[in-house]
Amino acid sequence: GVRPLIAGNWKMHGTLREATALAEAVQTGAKPGAELLVCPPFPYLVPVGGALAKGGVALGGQDCHAATKGAHTGDVAAPMLRDVGATYVILGHSERRADHGETDAVVRAKAEAALAAGLIPIVCVGESEAQRLAGEAEPVVTGQLAGSLPDGFAAAGGVVAYEPVWAIGTGRTPTEPDIAAIHAAIRGNLESRFSEAGSALRILYGGSVKPGNAASILALAHVDGALVGGASLVAADFLAIAAGV
Ligand code: 13P
Repeated sequence: GVRPLIAGNWKMHGTLREATALAEAVQTGAKPGAELLVCPPFPYLVPVGGALAKGGVALGGQDCHAATKGAHTGDVAAPMLRDVGATYVILGHSERRADHGETDAVVRAKAEAALAAGLIPIVCVGESEAQRLAGEAEPVVTGQLAGSLPDGFAAAGGVVAYEPVWAIGTGRTPTEPDIAAIHAAIRGNLESRFSEAGSALRILYGGSVKPGNAASILALAHVDGALVGGASLVAADFLAIAAGV
């Protein structure tokens, strides 16, 4: 199988000192096995990259703009992320879809920019609680994939993250059969769109992943890693999750 990816989405947390200390602790504690990735806030990318200079832990952004440069105050371009050592970028997180009105078309344009810059996009999808209760989780997720993934996604080894919105930061997760069902649907969707290349792409689960539930979630079919929020801010917890692959 593919090498699992354990990605930390630090969101908008921490001081500079905390960010570099966390990066150093993750790097020092990293064990062979899963690929590790940390995605700090933009101002900390350069110092965190410096703290990770010995290698073994990848660096990623939490968003990028669809344009390569220009008059876009407050935005960051994909080539800039690449320039400071990022190799991944999280795109279409539900918090960006909600806070910044990002549509599938916007996410797709950003993913195209990421691919053009040589970054691996981690495209996030996931249903709301109302959609889950209405029995619409699977069509919502496959619809988001159809709209958000660019054609070059599979050739570049793009990553999909399934994050049910109601599981983010709540301590609640879907049941293991429910996670497995959505991951199988995502795999089927990737294979029908990208043929064999779709079989090798990593599909991460995200939403209240903790050391106590990670190993059993990561053991499910078509769960090829995790996108971790809160627990990625504590090095020991992040490393314990990675040890569960
Ligand atoms: P939590 O792990 O804090 O639930 O966050 C998940 C997430 O949104 C990762 O992108």
